[in-house]
Formats: sequence, structure tokens, C-alpha cells
Amino acid sequence: MEPLVHHQYFSEGLQCNDWQVEGILRMFLNTIDSDVAEDPDNLVVYGTGKAARNQESVRGIISTLKKLKSDETLLIQSGKPVAVFKSFEHSPRVIAVNSVLVPAFANWDEFRQLEKSGLTMYGQSTASSWSYIGSQGVLQGTYETFNVLAKDHFSGTLKGKWILTSGLGGMGSAQPTAIKMNDGVSLIVEIDFNKIERSVKYNICDVSTDSLDEALNYVKVAIENNITLSVALLGNAAEVYQELVHRNVIPDIVTDQTSAHNLLDGYIPADYTLEHAKRIREQVPEMYLRDAKETIIRHVTSMVEFKKRGSVVFDYGNSIRQQANSAGYEEALSFPSFIPAYIRNLQCEGYSPFRWVALSGDPSDIYKIDDIVKNHFSDNEKIKKWIEYAQANIRFQGLPARTCWMKAEDRIWIAEKVNELVAEGIILAPIVFTRDHMDAGSMASPMRETEDMKDGSDVIGDWPILNALLNTANGATFVSFHHGGGVGIGYSLHAGMSLVVDGSRMVHEKIPRIFTGDVGIGIIRYADAGYDIAIQKAKELKLGLK
Ligand code: NAD
Repeated sequence: MEPLVHHQYFSEGLQCNDWQVEGILRMFLNTIDSDVAEDPDNLVVYGTGKAARNQESVRGIISTLKKLKSDETLLIQSGKPVAVFKSFEHSPRVIAVNSVLVPAFANWDEFRQLEKSGLTMYGQSTASSWSYIGSQGVLQGTYETFNVLAKDHFSGTLKGKWILTSGLGGMGSAQPTAIKMNDGVSLIVEIDFNKIERSVKYNICDVSTDSLDEALNYVKVAIENNITLSVALLGNAAEVYQELVHRNVIPDIVTDQTSAHNLLDGYIPADYTLEHAKRIREQVPEMYLRDAKETIIRHVTSMVEFKKRGSVVFDYGNSIRQQANSAGYEEALSFPSFIPAYIRNLQCEGYSPFRWVALSGDPSDIYKIDDIVKNHFSDNEKIKKWIEYAQANIRFQGLPARTCWMKAEDRIWIAEKVNELVAEGIILAPIVFTRDHMDAGSMASPMRETEDMKDGSDVIGDWPILNALLNTANGATFVSFHHGGGVGIGYSLHAGMSLVVDGSRMVHEKIPRIFTGDVGIGIIRYADAGYDIAIQKAKELKLGLK
């Protein structure tokens, strides 16, 4: 089927009443663009997350946004436009709530039933908050993760180390590049030949093979010659991991980014081809689930065994441990999630993945901002290295965009600067500032972002709701609240936000309020849980009660 939209629409001029609405329309269209979404025909943006319920909803969202007035707000219920209400000019233009079920019913069986009846959709995170920007979005976070890991377990670099991982999908594709940026060698197992081909075509992986022996030889030669290399191996991760344990070939680091969070629609059982998976999933879903559970137990059993034999093993946010544990493998939780292991201290300071998108569609807007960021952070090696790497290597998918981990004070600084440049016409069109959901204060996810909290508050779900409400109060252009995300139904609540920076006085006034609040909620959340770094940071930014 011909994809619904192409990014050529960027040059068609303003289609909405003002840039605030136009910005959200372009972000929506960008999310389902054939160069951005993993499966645009089915509106799947990445993982199993959709941007809109169905094609009728897509048409409804587009036509409503084109008519939306500057003092109205469109409501989206799990990917379906349901109403427009009169609000204020400074209010959000779109508020969305996705995949939320009443807690006692928040399980996959219930969800799938409701999804089948057309009453809901799975929105993952940036898919249904219309802020997905392709694999760059998660790249810097993946780089940060391996960077902290290298500092914690090795001598600050992955030079001479090899990493076994899986999945070359929307998120997983960031792994080979992030590992290379940390000077390591990666072996990535992927079941889908098309994903392997794509990864080589776009220089995400250097070489590919369907032979484990050949893959191991590539790794060996790269390590011996002290070079970085990414090797894509066609195969089922569970089978390959088990075979490596059997051969006692032990990687330095092991993780996984298959869509393990969704056993029916994402994860592929052992001995299944993709065609077979499609047929069995549709015709005998209970058999598919049984086989997927058996496979995931084999998969995680091998990961646990790698840990016992000396590898650094971690769960990379896809709920693989939880799935194996629920399927009956008790030892599954014996390796950590990447958040408490490598990311929490950064988030206690409010340091997490921020991003901006050029609504002009012109890459020069992003390069101008790159230069400003590089100059401003000339003494921050990490940010400088990242921007230089990104400028030289990253292919924009859809609207040109940049992601960069930043604290609240840096977000305010860059957004204010860009607002001035938009007003002066130096940047060609407004810029959308947005973020991942894996942000300091926007996620409650006891198997990932809020695992192993110091005060035991792992399952408290209040904070992301406070985050969404505060962003609404402060007038972010788009605010959303979600359930499920990267770990699946029942396991996370999270919020999204975007601000269209259009050069106006009103946006200038919103910027410090929005970014202090959006990030500050996270700092307060960790300070409240007793983390010293967050307590210090809250004092420094004068956050908390008067
Ligand atoms: P995706 O669905 O786009 O890609 C998953 C890939 O895994 C696919 O290419 C699929 O072919 C492959 N795969 C499935 N089963 C396999 C198997 N048994 N063996 C080998 N390959 C297999 O998903 P994605 O967007 O790349 O995300 C990957 C996982 O990470 C998801 O569970 C997602 O929810 C989670 N996630 C992680 C983060 C993070 O920050 N680390 C963020 C969001 C989501």
C-alpha cells in the first residue's frame, strides 16, 4: 500500500491557524512518515506502538488540527480524536491519553480484547506522543548507558571488549553505533533479514552474516586488531545465546533489545520464521504465546548463565527478565535493569534525553543549533563529542532533529536562545522541543525507571500524573499520559510533552516554567525518595516547598 504521508508536506506552507497547531500536525505526520515509522501502513511507529488508532483517526486528527483555533484544545483518547474544547491561548493545543486501563484490569488479556474491539491502541511512548524521531532519539541514551557501564566495569572505555545483544528495530538499532562510540565491538542477533539489510545499508552495522562461526571470527579479528566493529547475525537470539553458553564463549557484556515486552506481537519464538510467526499469531495465538514463553525462558536462562561465567549482564528496558519470571523462571530477576545500574544518578540531577525538531524540514536549522550548543558547551567533552559525532554520522529520518541529554537549566537556555533566533528569522521556522519518556520525572515503571528505589516507592504511580498535569498547567503545546510503554501493559505509567518554540513573547514566558517544572518534578521525586544527588540539586534550583 502507498504510505499515507511523505515528508514532502513540510514545504507546503502553513496548513493550520498558527504555528503552535502546525507544529503538532507536522510532528504527527512525521511520526507516521515512511522514513520514520517502522511500519507506516499499520501506523506502527516503533516497537508495537502506534501513533493513531486507525486510518479514520489519522484523517480525523489531520482535519481537526487544520481547523483548530488558537484557543481550542483537541482531546485524543488512545489514538482517536474525540473532542475539541474551548480553552485558552496559553493552554495546550492537544491533550492525549493512551492505553490506560483501570488498574485491576491492567493486563494484556484485557488490553488485547479491548484493542480487538477497536476501543484502545498500544501507544508505547514517543509513538503516541508524536515525538519519535527515528533511531537517533535513543542513540545518545544508549551511548550514555554504555559510557557509564565502561566507567563502572572497565577502564572508562569498551576498547578490546565485545558485547552480545539482539534486536535491530527502532530502538535496538542504536546499540551498534553507541557501542562503537565507546570503542567496543558488537555482535547483534536479529531474526528479520530486512532489518539486517537495512542496518548494513545505513552503516549501522559494518558486516552481516547468517553463520555464528563467521560472526565470532569477525569479533575475534576486530578485538585482536584493536578496532571497533559491529556484526549483525541473522538468527533467533534465544538459540544463539544458548549455543554460545554451550560452547562456553563468554562475551564481556550481554544485553538484549528484542520486543520482549510484547510476547504475542513482537517477540519471535525459537524455530519460527517470520512468516510462520505471522500465521500462528493470527490463527493459534495461545500456541504462539506458549512457544514465546518457552523461548524467553531459554533466552534469559542463558543471560543468567553468562552472568555466572563473568559477563556484565543487564536488562535493556524491554521487560525480558519480567517476562521470563512471569513464565516461571525464578532466577530471571538476578541481573539488573540499566536504569538503577547506570542511569539513575544522572536522572537525580535532572539529566535526561531532550530533543528538538526543525519544523522547516531544513537540516540547516539543526546545524545552526548544533553550533550554538557546541560553543556553549565547549568545556563539556561529552556533549561536544556527541554533537560532533551526530553532525558527522547521523542520517535524519523525516524532519531534521537532534537529541541531547540536558539538565533543566540547559534546556531553558537552549529553548530561550532558539526562541530568539526564530523571532529574528535566523532559524527558518519554529522548533519543537520535546523529550523521551525515560525522563527524570515522567515515568513510573517498577521494572525499569523506578526499579529498586531507595525508599521502596517503585510502584507509586503519582509522579507521571503530576508531571502531565503540571505541563498542562504551564501550557506545553502537547501533553500526554500513557500506560505500558516499553515494558508492557501493567508495568508502567508515563507522560509526554512538547513545546512549539515559535519566537513569540508567550513562549518566551512559558519556557522557564515548563522546563523547570517538567524536569523539576523528577528531581523532587528522587529527592523525596532520599537520593542525595537529587536533594542537593533541588536545593541548587530552589525546588520544593516554600
Ligand atoms: P522493534 O520491535 O522495533 O524491534 C525489535 C526487533 O527484535 C525486531 O527487529 C525483531 O525482528 C527482533 N526480534 C524479535 N524477536 C527476536 C528474537 N527472538 N531473536 C532475534 N530477534 C528478534 O523494537 P524496538 O523499538 O527496537 O525496541 C526494542 C525493545 O526495547 C522493546 O521491548 C522496547 O519496548 C524496549 N525499549 C527500550 C528502550 C530503551 O531505552 N532501552 C526504550 C524504549 C523501548
